[in-house]
Amino acid sequence: MMVTPLEAAELMKHLKQNKKNTTELKERCENTVKQYRLDHQFGNGKKSYLRRTYTCPFFNHKELGCGLSRQIKPYGCLAFNVHHSEIKASEHCFSEKDLLQKREEMFAFEEKINLRLKNELNLIWDKSPLPLALLDLWEKEINDVDLESH
Ligand code: SF4
Repeated sequence: MMVTPLEAAELMKHLKQNKKNTTELKERCENTVKQYRLDHQFGNGKKSYLRRTYTCPFFNHKELGCGLSRQIKPYGCLAFNVHHSEIKASEHCFSEKDLLQKREEMFAFEEKINLRLKNELNLIWDKSPLPLALLDLWEKEINDVDLESH
């Protein structure tokens, strides 16, 4: 799952405010990055993104599914649907890209917020795999960062 600076910052803020930024979660993110080599060639950090398949650190197991509530899930996750009638496991899921594209067009103002966050938080990507994006924000002071448009 690829996320924008805004999606990553919103999630990181939520994790910190709810004391869910645990060492265990950080280790899960680090292991995922290492195991799937997410820090290697995940795209040019600009508009073309190489899709990487990995098991998300928030995915508990087949029965429990995602550990994040709907309110805080990145948009790509909300458009993440099962594309097989009988199988609920993640390997038969993929994002509804058309839906995501439409959402991005409707919320074009977010591009400005993403650019500002990229500068303020010193990020080198426009979209990044979720665990890598969270690790990038882990030590940064995020609570006072403005996530709204001006
Ligand atoms: S829906 Fe949950 S488990 Fe799936 S990619 Fe998104 S955050 Fe990870």
